[in-house]
Amino acid sequence: MTEINRRGMLQAAGLMTLGAVTGCAAPRSAGGKDQTVFSIAQPTIPIVGSAERFPVRRIYCIGRNYAAHAREMGSDPTREPPFFFQKPSDAIQYVAPGQVSDHPYPTLTKNYHYEIELVAAISKGGKNISVENALQHVFGYAVGLDMTRRDLQAAMKKEEKPWEIGKSFDKSAPIGPIHPVASIGNFTEGKIWLKVNGQVKQSSDLKNMIWSVAEQISNLSKAFELQPGDIIYSGTPENVGPVVRGDVMEGYIDRLPSISLKVV
Ligand code: MN
Repeated sequence: MTEINRRGMLQAAGLMTLGAVTGCAAPRSAGGKDQTVFSIAQPTIPIVGSAERFPVRRIYCIGRNYAAHAREMGSDPTREPPFFFQKPSDAIQYVAPGQVSDHPYPTLTKNYHYEIELVAAISKGGKNISVENALQHVFGYAVGLDMTRRDLQAAMKKEEKPWEIGKSFDKSAPIGPIHPVASIGNFTEGKIWLKVNGQVKQSSDLKNMIWSVAEQISNLSKAFELQPGDIIYSGTPENVGPVVRGDVMEGYIDRLPSISLKVV
C-alpha cells in the first residue's frame, strides 16, 4: 500500500467515525452547516401594546451628558465632545412596571451607584446619520439605569485602563418596557428623577442633556454603523450616589411608567 493510499483510507475511516457519531446525535435540521453547537439566549425587551419583543443587539451609553453630572465627575462639560462606551447586550435586566423587582448587588464593589437614564431603541440602522434625520431611526423609548461599580470605574480611570469592570457587568442595565414612538412621540424635555427608599436623589429635566438623542445618534453613527436592535442610554443627571442591599430604587421619566428595583 502506498503512503498516499494508506492516508486516504485512514481519512475515510475517520470520516466514517465522525458520521457514526453525528448519527447518534440529535437530528439536524436542513441547512445544518449553519447550526451552532449550542444555543444562546437573545436578550429582548417587551414592547408596550405589542405581543412582539424588541431584540437587543448592542447597548451604547453616552458619558457625562448633563453638565452638572460632568462637573461632579470632575470634568469640564463645555470642552468635551460626546463619548460613548458599551455594555454587553445580556447586561439587560428587564424590569416590569408596577412591581418591585430584585436586583443583585454585584461582586467586587463597595460603592455601587445608580444612574437614571432615558433609553432610545433603534429599529433602523445607518452610518453618518444627520441630526435632522436621526429620530427617524428611533423605534421607541424606555426608562433605564446605568448601574455602575463606581469604585472600580474610578480605579480604572486613575490607571488609564478601560472601564469595563465598572460599567459592563452582568445585570448592569436594568430597563423598563419600550414605548413605541408611534404611540408616545419623541423625548426632548420632561422630568427625570430617581428615588431611593422614597427620597429623591436625582432630579433634572431631559432638556438639560448636553447632546440630544438626535445628536447622540448622529455622533454614534460616525463611529459605528448603527443596526436595528441597538439601544442608547442617553446619560444621567447629577447627584449619582450609592445603594446598599435592601434599598429600593425607583426611576421615572415623564410620560413613562416608573420602574422599581430592590437591591438584594
Ligand atoms: Mn451613565
